[in-house]
Amino acid sequence: MKTNFAVKGTIKLGVLCLFFVQIGWSQNSDQQQLKNIYDAALTKGKSYDWLNYLSNQIGGRLSGSIQAQQAVNYTKQELDSMGLDRVWLQPVMVPKWVRGIPEFAYFETSPGVTTNVPLTALGGSVATPPSGVKSEIVEVKGLEELAVLGASKIKGKIVFYNRPMDPTLINTFAAYSGCVDQRYAGALEAAKYGAIGIIVRSMNLRLDDYPHTGSMSYGDLPEDKRIPAAAISTNAAELLSATLQLDPKTKFFFKQNCKLFPDVESYNVIGEIKGSTHPDEIIVVGGHLDSWDLGDGSHDDGAGCVQSMEVLQLFKQIGYKPKRTIRVVLFMNEENGLRGGNEYAKVAMEKNENHIFGLESDAGGFTPRGFSFDGPDSSFEKIMGWKDLFEPYLVHLFEKGGSGADIGPLKNERITLAGLRPDSQRYFDYHHAENDTFEQVNKRELELGAATMASLVYLVDTHGLNP
Ligand SMILES: [Zn+2]
Repeated sequence: MKTNFAVKGTIKLGVLCLFFVQIGWSQNSDQQQLKNIYDAALTKGKSYDWLNYLSNQIGGRLSGSIQAQQAVNYTKQELDSMGLDRVWLQPVMVPKWVRGIPEFAYFETSPGVTTNVPLTALGGSVATPPSGVKSEIVEVKGLEELAVLGASKIKGKIVFYNRPMDPTLINTFAAYSGCVDQRYAGALEAAKYGAIGIIVRSMNLRLDDYPHTGSMSYGDLPEDKRIPAAAISTNAAELLSATLQLDPKTKFFFKQNCKLFPDVESYNVIGEIKGSTHPDEIIVVGGHLDSWDLGDGSHDDGAGCVQSMEVLQLFKQIGYKPKRTIRVVLFMNEENGLRGGNEYAKVAMEKNENHIFGLESDAGGFTPRGFSFDGPDSSFEKIMGWKDLFEPYLVHLFEKGGSGADIGPLKNERITLAGLRPDSQRYFDYHHAENDTFEQVNKRELELGAATMASLVYLVDTHGLNP
């Protein structure tokens, strides 16, 4: 009996050892694969060259523009050259809004005494009359203050929304969220009280001379009630506010001739590596190919597109053959419609495709800090078990929260969605402005972001999730 017991004990101990050896081996091999991925990204990465082409040869890629179509052709061609199992274009109808000739604006303290103001039409805005609009200004800090003032104070005036982004918030996206209602719904609300136009302080934490555009909506306001909407730079907002303190009769003038045309056909650009053992389980990694038209959309979201392409390129580089199907999707029309994201999810649903994981990069090409996750708790717990693997790369942030606008429509009770979270301190210096250009992107930061994404995709592919 004793001997027997000892033998059994030895076997148990042996099995236990084997178990720990296996866990150890698995961790070691994961560590090694992450190192292979980061090494390849920093020495054989292609993301920076791709971004250079998108930014400097093509430029701003507003939905429905020639540049957006050029970006579709270019990225499809690059995916075609990567030796993927399948590359295709997914048609989608998108809005076509055109800025027209450059806007012009000034404020006037007494007849003929004017100060020019950097101003940009908001995306989707109507034009001013050909001779522009000019009137006294009502400055408010937000939609609530507008409602308090009401029609008696607002009718016939230009409303100036001037609530700054909160500088005390470390996550600058939270500061953006706290302000963006002025830009998005400012015209709709002011039109209800008879305003003739609105201007909004740019969504920018820094004081500078760049006006930042972005989407806005008239809701279901009839066409003849829609009023022109524009953003002015933060410096101009400060100066105008100070001037109004001294002289509340100061007048504002602006002129823009932007126009909305009927929808046009465009495409999501898609490429995939078929899974070797679970081809029906799909992992999506993506960014949005369209951008605003003022700069060249390098951070928003050229960076996210080339990083997503890089994930598949890196797997090829290190000879990793995924078990599951890894799909890169370059979504069209995130900025002013989200048509690409909606279409992709619609088609996935129609085809009954099983998406287990989605990862989006749409927060700039800055130093990666981590990820934000939206999905089942059991999957989040499993992912938290991989956190230590990212320590050597100074990637620490693993939190629950949002993911990305384009992958959002894929949400269901099983899928885990994630967003890459780069350092956000400089993002709003460039967001939707003329200075969102290639020079603002650091090559290593861009590559580290791509490697961080590829590492997470590798781990999800190798180990699966627990929905
Ligand atoms: Zn974006």
